Amino acid sequence: MDGRSKAPGKVIIVGAGITGCAIAWHLARLGHTDVTVLDRGTLGAPLGSTGHAPGLLGRNAASPVMAALADYTAEFLMRLPGAVFNKVGSVEVARKAETADLLERKAATARGYGFEAHVVGPGELAGLVPYMDVSGLKRGLYLPGDGTLDARAALRGLHEGARDAGVTFRENVAVRDVLVREGRVVGVVTDDGEIVGDKVVIAVGIWGAELLKRHGIALPLFPVQHPYFTTAPLAVLDGAPAPSRHPMVRDLENVFYLREHGDRLGFGWYSHAPAPAEVAALIEAEMAFPAHGFHEGLSHDLFPVLAGAPIERKLNGIFSMTPDGGPLLGPVPGEPHLWVAEAVWVTHSGGVGRAVAEALLGLEPTIDVGAFAPDRFAAMPEDVCRARSLSLYNDIYAWPAP
Ligand SMILES: Cc1cc2nc3c(=O)[nH]c(=O)nc-3n(C[C@H](O)[C@H](O)[C@H](O)COP(=O)(O)OP(=O)(O)OC[C@H]3O[C@@H](n4cnc5c(N)ncnc54)[C@H](O)[C@@H]3O)c2cc1C
Repeated sequence: MDGRSKAPGKVIIVGAGITGCAIAWHLARLGHTDVTVLDRGTLGAPLGSTGHAPGLLGRNAASPVMAALADYTAEFLMRLPGAVFNKVGSVEVARKAETADLLERKAATARGYGFEAHVVGPGELAGLVPYMDVSGLKRGLYLPGDGTLDARAALRGLHEGARDAGVTFRENVAVRDVLVREGRVVGVVTDDGEIVGDKVVIAVGIWGAELLKRHGIALPLFPVQHPYFTTAPLAVLDGAPAPSRHPMVRDLENVFYLREHGDRLGFGWYSHAPAPAEVAALIEAEMAFPAHGFHEGLSHDLFPVLAGAPIERKLNGIFSMTPDGGPLLGPVPGEPHLWVAEAVWVTHSGGVGRAVAEALLGLEPTIDVGAFAPDRFAAMPEDVCRARSLSLYNDIYAWPAP
C-alpha cells in the first residue's frame, strides 16, 4: 500500500461493522487512539452484514494471503473477551471423483500453510457429524482448526476493546460524502455537519460503492442477496447449550453450508441464480425473502433432518462481491488521504484490521495485503467487473485449476 505517512493524525473510520471496529481496535493496540468511528446505526443493533453473518470461519484458501488473514483472525478472536470463536472444525464433502481430487488438493495446500488437515472416508465423516447422511459420499476433508463464531459478540468485543483504549465511537451519524478542500480529502460531511480529519477510511460494507459514487469514484464492489435459514430446536441436537459441538459442513457440489446454533441448525446456499441487490435505499443489509428463485434447487440429501424441519427464521441477507473475491484495501487512486476497507468477510476481518492499521501507521505489514489494492481492476470495464463478481457467487467454493 502506498499513501503512508508515519503519523496519520486524526483517523476517521466510517462504518462500525466488524471491519471498521477491527481497524480501530488494532490502531489503538498499536498506540494510535486519535481515531473516531462513525456509524449511522447503533453499536447494540448493527445494521450491516456483520449483524447477519452466521459466522463460519474456514482458514484454508487458494490465496496464501487470504489464508494468513483468516488464520490470524481465528487466533485473534479466540483470545478476544467473550469467547467468540468455537474451534469445532470444518468438513467439506465429495460425492464425485473430481470433487474428491479437489479435496486432496485443498488438503495439501492447507498442510503447506501449516494447518492440520485430514482426508477421511464416509465412516469417519459419520462420526464427525452424526446427523449427516454419508451414504452417497466418497470422501471428506476435515480441518480441525476451523470453526464457527458469533459475529455480534466479536463486534462487541472489538468495540469495547477499542473504546476502552481511547477510540471515540459516534452512533447515529450518517456520512453523506467525503469532505474536500483545495482538492484534498480532509474529512467527511455528515447529517450532523462536517468532521475534519487527516485520514478517512471507508468501511461501510455493501454501501461502499454507493457512498463513493458521490465522490466520483467507481468502486468495483457489487452487493448480492444471500439466503440463510435457521431451524427451530431439533431433537437430533438434544437441547445442546453450546453454540456448536460438531464441525460445520460445506457441500462443494450443491454449494451449500450448515452449522449448529445450539439446538438449532442454520444453513445457507449459493446454488440459485446470483441476485444483485440495489442498496441505495436500504438502511439494513437485508431484503424481503423472495417467494421464488432461491429455494427451488435446494437439496436436503445430505441432511434428511432438514426435510420438513420447522424453519424459525428465513434471512435474505446482503454481502459484497468483487471480481476476484478479494477485499479492496488501501488508499483510492490519487487520494492518499481517502482509504477503503471493503468487501471484507468476518473470516478475514481481524487480519484486515491489523494490516490496514499497520499501513495507516506506516509500519511494515505483518501480512502484505498489497495484492488487494482497490485499483487493481482499473483496466477492467465496469460491466466485466460486475459479470465476474456475480459469476463468482455460484463458484464460491471452487479453486483455480492447478
Ligand atoms: C447471510 C450472510 C451470511 C454470511 N456468512 C458469513 C460467514 O459465514 N462467514 C463470514 O466470514 N462472512 C459471512 N458473511 C459476510 C460478512 O457478514 C460480511 O462480509 C461482513 O460482515 C462485512 O463487515 P463490514 O464491517 O465490512 O460491513 P458491515 O457489517 O455491513 O458494516 C458496515 C457499517 O457501516 C455503516 N454505514 C453504512 N453506510 C453508512 C454511512 N453512510 N454513514 C455511516 N455509517 C454507515 C452501517 O450502519 C454498518 O454498521 C455473511 C453475510 C451474510 C449477509
